[in-house]
Amino acid sequence: AKALGSNSQVCFNPAMTAEIQQRYQLELALAAALAAGQFELHYQPQLTDSGKVVGVEALLRWQHPELGYVSPARFIALAEETGQIDSIGHWVLQQACAQLQRWQSEPKLRELIMSVNISARQFYQPEFIAQVQQCLSQYQFKPEQLMLELTESLILADLDDAVSRMQQIKQLGVRFSMDDFGTGYSSLSYLSRLPFDEVKIDQYFVRSASSGKPRDWVIVEAIIGIANTFGMKLIAEGVETQAQYELLRQSGCYCYQGYLFAKPAAAAETARWIDEHSP
Ligand code: C2E
Ligand code: CA
Ligand code: CA
Ligand code: CA
Repeated sequence: AKALGSNSQVCFNPAMTAEIQQRYQLELALAAALAAGQFELHYQPQLTDSGKVVGVEALLRWQHPELGYVSPARFIALAEETGQIDSIGHWVLQQACAQLQRWQSEPKLRELIMSVNISARQFYQPEFIAQVQQCLSQYQFKPEQLMLELTESLILADLDDAVSRMQQIKQLGVRFSMDDFGTGYSSLSYLSRLPFDEVKIDQYFVRSASSGKPRDWVIVEAIIGIANTFGMKLIAEGVETQAQYELLRQSGCYCYQGYLFAKPAAAAETARWIDEHSP
């Protein structure tokens, strides 16, 4: 009994209890967030070499009255575990599509591509394909303007099932972007087996451009080569410095997203930014 007593002390030390409590609090807050209207989408421009804005990535923002701003890096994983991502992800998809429709009346915005992050659980949900279809019929824009960002960990879960789902969605005209490629455990050859239309070079690799890690830079060049070989669009994300931009450009990249150009911002602000930066 003594051993058990000391064991349980190890398991339930105050620090850990606080952590569990915090997590539980976050979970409760998350459950109420959607109905309370605490979510908002921000949009970050994606530009070509010539400075033309070709698209935006929708990024979820959560402002809680007491907790303040909570980063998606903190709550998306939790929402995946609890299943809350089902309703949050559906809301994100609808909001992004509604925004894309609103921008159809603006000459400088109507051709934009809207990239939306899709979590693994959301993608494998039985209703997901129908939800995409429903958005396409409810909102007015070309299906090719919708780009769904998937991560490689999602694909690795079940390669054949992922490919078959992707193909069903691609038949609707919607496209796919490989997010965070190279950061997980898949090999570069995976790209050839998957029907992606675009590859995003992760900010980890973009940083290696200027951090003097030549081994990482070799991987960037390999990704660029493979994407070009398979006819996939390329985009580098997290571009923060002119040096990174120039190195990427020299290596054959031609599309960029990052603080060097613009930060994610609310729809009106991003629209204004794009308007001011359009020729
Ligand atoms: P991600 O998809 O890799 O998104 C890129 C992240 O990099 C965003 O962080 C963006 O704000 C940030 N970023 C953009 N440019 C720069 C830069 O130049 N420097 C640096 N340091 N960061 C930059 P954010 O918005 O905090 O989102 C974090 C992650 O949360 C996202 O990573 C994505 O995995 C997830 N996430 C965000 N919104 C959604 C969503 O609606 N659904 C799902 N499933 N996940 C989301
Ligand atoms: Ca993304
Ligand atoms: Ca990414
Ligand atoms: Ca990331």
